[in-house]
Amino acid sequence: MNQSYIHKDKWSIIEKGFSPNNVKSSESIFSIGNGSMGQRANFEEKYSGPSFQGSYIGGVYYPDRTRVGWWKNGYPDYFAKVLNAPNWIGIDFNINGEDLDLYKSKKVIDFKRILDMKNGLYTRTFNVELKNGVIVRVEVNKFISMDQNEIGAIQYNIQLINDNAKIKVSPYINGKVKNQDSNWDDPFWKHLDHENDGKSAFLLSKTNKTNFNVCTYMYADLCLNGKQLSNIDHPFKEELKLGYLSEIELLKGDKLTLTKYGGYTVSLNHPVNKLKSVAKEKINYAKSKGFHGLLKDHEYRWDIIWKMSDIEIKGDLEAQQGIRFNIFQLNQTYTGKDSRLNIGPKGFTGEKYGGSAYWDTEAYCLPFYMVTKNADVARNLLKYRYDQLPKAIENAQKLGFENGAALFPMVTMNGEECHNEWEITFEEIHRNGAIAFAIFNYVRYSDDQTYIPKMGFEVLLAIARFWKQRVNYSTKKEKYVILGVTGPNEYENNVDNNWYTNYIAKWCLNYSAEQYHILKVQHPNEFENIYIKTSVNDKEVEEWVSIANNIYLPYSDEHQVYLQQEGFLDKELVTVRQLDPKHRPINQNWSWDRILRPPFIKQADTLQGFYFFEDDFTKDELERHYNFYSAFTLHESSLSPCVHSILASKLDKMDDAYELYLRTSRLDLDDYNKEVEEGLHITSMTGTWMSIVFGFGGLKIVQGMLSIDPKLPKHWKGLSFKINFRGENLAVNIDEKNCDFSWSGNNPINLILRNKRIRINSNKSKKIIYS
Ligand code: BGC
Repeated sequence: MNQSYIHKDKWSIIEKGFSPNNVKSSESIFSIGNGSMGQRANFEEKYSGPSFQGSYIGGVYYPDRTRVGWWKNGYPDYFAKVLNAPNWIGIDFNINGEDLDLYKSKKVIDFKRILDMKNGLYTRTFNVELKNGVIVRVEVNKFISMDQNEIGAIQYNIQLINDNAKIKVSPYINGKVKNQDSNWDDPFWKHLDHENDGKSAFLLSKTNKTNFNVCTYMYADLCLNGKQLSNIDHPFKEELKLGYLSEIELLKGDKLTLTKYGGYTVSLNHPVNKLKSVAKEKINYAKSKGFHGLLKDHEYRWDIIWKMSDIEIKGDLEAQQGIRFNIFQLNQTYTGKDSRLNIGPKGFTGEKYGGSAYWDTEAYCLPFYMVTKNADVARNLLKYRYDQLPKAIENAQKLGFENGAALFPMVTMNGEECHNEWEITFEEIHRNGAIAFAIFNYVRYSDDQTYIPKMGFEVLLAIARFWKQRVNYSTKKEKYVILGVTGPNEYENNVDNNWYTNYIAKWCLNYSAEQYHILKVQHPNEFENIYIKTSVNDKEVEEWVSIANNIYLPYSDEHQVYLQQEGFLDKELVTVRQLDPKHRPINQNWSWDRILRPPFIKQADTLQGFYFFEDDFTKDELERHYNFYSAFTLHESSLSPCVHSILASKLDKMDDAYELYLRTSRLDLDDYNKEVEEGLHITSMTGTWMSIVFGFGGLKIVQGMLSIDPKLPKHWKGLSFKINFRGENLAVNIDEKNCDFSWSGNNPINLILRNKRIRINSNKSKKIIYS
């Protein structure tokens, strides 16, 4: 395991001691957000050391012009970037002529940061001795309200410890920001107007090209020893930085408290001409509630979230902290209230991956939101793709497909493909499969019989049409083949018959055909509407089934495993164990050519299929595939260890399952991939949750019922989690021997525990020996 400077605690993330080397990593780890906006844990006061400034707004992006060396037809023109937005948190302090800047100070004493995940509160405390000899004590509390989408709040306390001093305080907002990942240094923002009067400031800006209008605002007031100060504010504006300056003579021991409210109002949610007036309303609301009033409402929201999504692990502090950190960050990233938003791989904690939607959402994120929230949250995630179906059809047309076939983008903000590495854009077509699988997964879990007739079938149809056109019949093999693809394992490109892709294509064609027949019989009105739009008919659907029945699936008789792709066995079958660790991660140390030749696998590929379609295979088959592919898997994508962990649990390989679980759950806290400073791996955090609930808890749906098969890692004394099943809650408490269920439903529920059916009466608990 990696060494981390983060202290272990059940409910908090704690950093003690100040080290400039950790600043960027902590800026990621201590990020805060509320699904609508997010903020890296940048210091509020000036910091001249290495830092990665980041403030982000949900749904606000910029189409950055593509940068590729050799243009290929069909490339998207742009790569969408989540935008670094104007900074609302800044507060400058100057004490007896010297800036408060930890990087330049003489000594930082007792530095401590705590992210209290239970309450969603970030605090930072320290004493600092400046070069001029003044010592001050600082305590900062900050949160972005889970109750009020557009409000963030900071309380900054500063106390003179050893002398009197003259202190200048300047709370500000600043539009001078840029994305570190900008391709051409194009300006992303245009600033249109500003206002600063007294204690408030407003900056009206518009994104270039995408025309999102944003009003960044702040309000700040000052108290000295608990008494509000007035009439000492001098508004200032230096370029795009605006706020006010107050100069105060303080005596030794005096405590100055600055309370700042700020955030963004955005044209996605308000008329453009109202952005400033809405921001003023936000300020008035925040002032009327006060910092503590806002905090109380925020804590209340977190309490509701935790009541439904908390996981308790007894007997393993590291694992406990890991899972809570993941659940916390997932809730900060996506709340499911707005179907225009999605879950970027870095959420609001960094820029890499553009903050856009990937297949990660359907393949990884959906289950977490589906099981810990009401069904409308998962449905909103599916609706996101439904709303983008016309663009996915256009996208496929650009690549030469016709008749309403859709290829959903690998990366998108608005439905347009905006990934431009050719092998991913053109070849990672398996993403279409994950989108169809998510529909199946959601309906299987929620029993929502309205989604497919209303929205889902059109998506399935367009996906089936894509696969139908993407396969070709090989007369040599007398099978349908899918050539020139990249599977989930991105360390292979342009391969033929990637088993995972072929299998999911086969599954999609069959599932779409099945849903076609159900729709026709059970929902004739919806069927009629879809028929009018698409002309889908029995003959077309028969063709899907005949292709599905005859898709080529590469198999090795020698190893008795499906092959990741054709030709896999031509490789020199060296294993990860035989690879000198100094070469890892290979994507940072090897040329692409070198990466493509060995059998090393970036992330679960064939095993991804075994995870999705578990019931199609026997335990022996699973074991053979797990053993064969694990030996070559490097887990150099954060999405990988969780799939292996879940499968290891199913195979009773609990040591493997636990080690892989830790790797996913503490990936960022222990910085396994040495890149946490770029941002957190948000989408793989759902994998942590899945490793516990699907892996150690063994949750799945069997014939419409919840089925649990508990398998705890050796040293765990207990595990508790909750399941929101069809609007009611099931609490599951597992110890080494017993499984204790509490069911909130008004009707009894039938469950399966280790293959045995049990019944729990309404609003009752039941304890059963399972082992
Ligand atoms: C993985 C992809 C994933 C992307 C974003 C890549 O490293 O290989 O499967 O979609 O990261 O998380």
